Amino acid sequence: NVAETEPREDGSDRVHDIAIIGSGPAGYTAAVYAARANLQPVVFASSVAAGGDLMTTTEVENYPGFIEGIQGPELMANMQQQAERFGADIQYEDVDSVELEGEVKKITLQDGTVHWAKAVIISTGSEYRKLGLDDETRLSGHGVSWCATCDGFFFKDKPIAVVGGGDSALEEALFLTNFASNVTIIHRRDSLRASEIMQERALNNPKITFIWDSAVVGIEGEAKTEALQVENLKSGLTQRLEVDGLFVAIGSDPRTDLVKDQLELTPEGTIAVNGRSSKTNVPGVFAAGDVIDPTYRQAITAAGSGCVAAIDAQHYLESL
Ligand code: FAD
Repeated sequence: NVAETEPREDGSDRVHDIAIIGSGPAGYTAAVYAARANLQPVVFASSVAAGGDLMTTTEVENYPGFIEGIQGPELMANMQQQAERFGADIQYEDVDSVELEGEVKKITLQDGTVHWAKAVIISTGSEYRKLGLDDETRLSGHGVSWCATCDGFFFKDKPIAVVGGGDSALEEALFLTNFASNVTIIHRRDSLRASEIMQERALNNPKITFIWDSAVVGIEGEAKTEALQVENLKSGLTQRLEVDGLFVAIGSDPRTDLVKDQLELTPEGTIAVNGRSSKTNVPGVFAAGDVIDPTYRQAITAAGSGCVAAIDAQHYLESL
């Protein structure tokens, strides 16, 4: 089904050894490894969000190798150029659909172009749920964060708010007490969904206070976050809370739309992989990064996982 009379000029009728979908740390690291294994990977990097989640942040201080830290977009530009240096073909296109069964996989781009590949690496990442406020994106990396592990260190002796009521919100809040002067948890209900043990720890922590039945309805600050508008959902009254940081911990959604009908997912909604490998339940299809990770979700773990996927794909191709 891939044979045509004339080769297409864009090379899309060629069967790629490896196609990589997604261009965050997982996708670009997979591309570096696959390219250095001489497998000439094609990367579908997205037309609107190439470079992945780190493109939306400022300082990254926990990616090893950068003593003074590095800006998120610069780190991703470095990864992209490193992959291209070894021959990865990066296409700034969105994948519209995939057909993953069989020895040759079909990848259809949003512009209708069809590509074929013997192995596919899915590295489409995961999306933190947002509050949906106008200023949330503008102040991302300037006080608004979705990751305490990443950004807690920036808030030494500063007041912080955490939005959410589940285990991960309380975990973030407890971790943030290591830095913050105080942590206010803002929750839409009057009780927590988190496990008993996490609730007990949070409720007994002297640095943590709660604002119940409430939602953040506004974020103030020009260059950085300065205060929140917090509305009591029962009384309708709004209070102003001065904080330097707002951590949004209301969950995340792995980006599995492309593959959720074809690949096995875990109960958390991530793509299921076999043990420590990147192998999905479909031969020749591998997955890496935050789309398989309900727990760690760091740039370095995503990059490591991309490396694993490239090596797994390489071994798969050798076995054909
Ligand atoms: P992503 O980076 O999410 O990349 C996935 C890519 O796939 C995206 O470009 C997406 O557009 C693309 N894609 C999805 N679907 C398609 C499709 N159909 N076609 C084509 N492309 C597609 N981690 C740290 O270690 N340190 C930090 O300081 C840090 N700060 C962060 C700050 C912010 C604001 C955020 C949001 C995250 C931060 N993280 C940080 C977490 C880190 O960004 C992620 O763990 C990491 O980016 C995950 O890498 P990934 O490659 O799995 O996915």
